Amino acid sequence: MSKFWSDRVKTTKPYTYGEQPKDKKYIKLNTNENPYPVSKLAIEAMKAAVNDDLKLYPDPTCFELRSEIAAYYGVDKDEVFVGNGSDEVLAFSFMAFFNRGDKVIYPDISYSFYDVYAGLLGVESERIPLNEDFSIPVEKYKNKNIGILIANPNAPTGVCLTLSEIEDIVSSNPHSLVLVDEAYIDFGGETAISLTKKYDNLLVSQTFSKSRSLAGMRVGFAIGDKKLIEALERIKNSINSYTIDRVAIAGATASIRDVEHFEATRRLVIETRERVVPCLEKLAFTVLPSKANFIFAKHESISGQTLYEQLKHRGILVRHFAKPRIEDYLRISIGSDAEMDAFLSVLEDIVKSYK
Ligand code: PMP
Repeated sequence: MSKFWSDRVKTTKPYTYGEQPKDKKYIKLNTNENPYPVSKLAIEAMKAAVNDDLKLYPDPTCFELRSEIAAYYGVDKDEVFVGNGSDEVLAFSFMAFFNRGDKVIYPDISYSFYDVYAGLLGVESERIPLNEDFSIPVEKYKNKNIGILIANPNAPTGVCLTLSEIEDIVSSNPHSLVLVDEAYIDFGGETAISLTKKYDNLLVSQTFSKSRSLAGMRVGFAIGDKKLIEALERIKNSINSYTIDRVAIAGATASIRDVEHFEATRRLVIETRERVVPCLEKLAFTVLPSKANFIFAKHESISGQTLYEQLKHRGILVRHFAKPRIEDYLRISIGSDAEMDAFLSVLEDIVKSYK
């Protein structure tokens, strides 16, 4: 604490991101990065963008990138917003659509960033408990007409709503914004982007960090009605018009064009996930049905904290949340086949040693 801190800083609870330890080399299965290489076309485009044009500001409208995203998803360029990671898209959405004192609802057990932003901006939040099986109780989101946030698939559970469940929520709340955070949608879920033409209260956010292997580049985007996008642009231009740099614009544009790489990579992640689930079940884990690039699993007798520590000791990092209801779960990102084999073999040793 310092006398120079604003009240906002004093009361805010910063987001706790996944560990990035430097003490030794770990097999990193803790922050849902993609284990597969970046598209070669994206690398080439980024290298080519490292030139003397960097003395000039980037295009604040991100015209080319927005056009490319729009073409890929079959929407208009003016229905696309790009931000510095989807975290920024979410942050700007809170500023653009919710007033201080407004109430928003989202699942109790979801992406913890929602709490952080609500807290920072004085937006009230009601967190609606998940069902016993960790699914989202859709009925509780219908006819609310207050702001709604839903991560689909949810994080850190990986559990996904169907497109018709999302549509039920969106159509029954015509007077409030429904933000669907689709950071993990490309690993088996069905995107709600197609609904944005029909509903002016739906905003869908996605990211290049997961299915496109570009977490280090920091680009995310949102698709929705033109008026929603205009609001996000207003916020962006009030804070920093240049949140996406020239190199990132070039990389993201090339990445969207490289459909072959995208399809191959996400297929590999899904295949590995489907292979690992039964292996965990054999080791007496309960595994939630995941449509994401991670698995959320709990052992029948060994605590989450113990497993997390034992794995870390043996050079494998997974994510553990010391939170009620999920303290015995581990969130395990899907790595390469070799990484997952190493993980499973260490895990088997640990589990045996506790018998
Ligand atoms: N939404 C969810 C549910 C996430 O888990 C993450 C990643 N931590 C994000 C959004 C943000 O991802 P990024 O800023 O890398 O696009």
